[in-house]
Amino acid sequence: CGVFGIYAPEEDVAKLTYFGLYALQHRGQESAGIATFEGEKVHLYKEMGLVSQVFSETILSELKGSIGVGHTRYSTTGSSRVVNAQPAVIETRLGSLALAHNGNLVNTANLRSKLEQRNCNFLTTTDSEMIALAIASEVDRGKDWLEAAISAFHWCQGAFSLVVGTPVGVMGVRDPNGIRPLVLGTLGNNPQRYVLASETCGLDIIGAEYVRDVEPGELVWITDAGVASFHWTQKPERKLCIFEMIYFARPDSIMEGESLYSYRMRIGRQLAKESPADVDLIIGVPDSGIPAAIGFSQESGITYAEGLIKNRYVGRTFIQPTQKMRESGIKMKLNPLKDVLNGKRVIVVDDSIVRGTTSRKLVQAIRDAGATEVHMRVSSPPVTHPCFYGIDTDNQDQLIAATKSVEEIAQQIGVDSLAYLSWEGMLKSTGEDPNSFCSACFTGDYPVPVPELLKRSKLM
Ligand code: 5GP
Ligand code: SF4
Ligand code: MG
Repeated sequence: CGVFGIYAPEEDVAKLTYFGLYALQHRGQESAGIATFEGEKVHLYKEMGLVSQVFSETILSELKGSIGVGHTRYSTTGSSRVVNAQPAVIETRLGSLALAHNGNLVNTANLRSKLEQRNCNFLTTTDSEMIALAIASEVDRGKDWLEAAISAFHWCQGAFSLVVGTPVGVMGVRDPNGIRPLVLGTLGNNPQRYVLASETCGLDIIGAEYVRDVEPGELVWITDAGVASFHWTQKPERKLCIFEMIYFARPDSIMEGESLYSYRMRIGRQLAKESPADVDLIIGVPDSGIPAAIGFSQESGITYAEGLIKNRYVGRTFIQPTQKMRESGIKMKLNPLKDVLNGKRVIVVDDSIVRGTTSRKLVQAIRDAGATEVHMRVSSPPVTHPCFYGIDTDNQDQLIAATKSVEEIAQQIGVDSLAYLSWEGMLKSTGEDPNSFCSACFTGDYPVPVPELLKRSKLM
């Protein structure tokens, strides 16, 4: 999901939120929503669909106020229905709160029974609503916004990057491991106006300046007094999702002080060092495989070319719910260039193989276009485990590398050779402490313990 928040008296916060969400569209395409606070009064509009389909000038003009919270959803818990769209708005003793969540909690069973004991009313089946209810129930027991939020966050385990709007201010929060990203920006002084976004591309689009990341285990509270920072948890330990770096986040977003484009080029170079092949051309799978393909070409000295053209108006294949739609989605999405590929030995670079569906179809299409050899290089290691923290890589039995060796996968997707980036190469290329990332989908080493029942629901 994508989350966005803004504190900007005297600005058109609905419109700024709209454009922020527009830049975060890649993080979720099922539904979009914006809540604004006009003093005590909350305005909310959310609907299924893309940001540009959900909102019109008229709708935006009705979302008045000086505080805005926005969300683009891709469902990991709760079904794909409008009630599950966010922000979740809940009434409390101190007025409304509007919450937008990116990530996935792992202790929802436990949280639900706690909330049931407090007679909370559930409207939805989402973990995100539970966080909102937990805050509200703490407010209703006499705490102020800050105390209530902090005690509610102590109930939550898993991944949560949150933006929470209230009548008096907006908060940005990250879980103790900072699994999902969240950044703070400013729209300038006089009066001080602040922005929160899942990625820096959500700041760029509205001309906001990047200030810093919200830290793992940090809460920033933005009010008319400015930004206050609270380290709400005892032992934060950074475990940023490495898949954000490899695939999920936009290449022009900055993480760890550089664009993800640069990181993705570097893992392409690393892949070329680890697994070269004698070919005529390097091509990448648009869009996510392109930077790594360029890096591969630079390192190997083999020509890079565009061999596949993408229809930009088709969503990411993995957003669609059924396997059948997924398969037809690929045909809609990529078209090979016959005059580039004909008679050539090619390396095709992609960022990941998850289920193997994309690659199998693609390899066939590249052969049909006349390529004489097709070698696949993947700029991440084999995905062997499901994610419980908010990336929908499917159940383990759907993951091709969970049961098959690299040779078997090569055979199944029909390539002349197949190689994945090493786990060490992936982490080393970040230039950061390898222990500061989650890479559980490649190792099964889950940084936040996953309860047995939940584990069994996704593991073979
Ligand atoms: P698959 O192997 O499942 O057919 O698809 C892998 C390709 O689709 C890669 O190009 C990757 O960019 C994208 N993709 C599809 N589903 C997912 C997913 O759930 N997670 C990630 N990280 N990438 C996916
Ligand atoms: Fe990211 Fe994989 Fe960890 Fe999920 S399991 S948070 S996708 S690195
Ligand atoms: Mg891709």
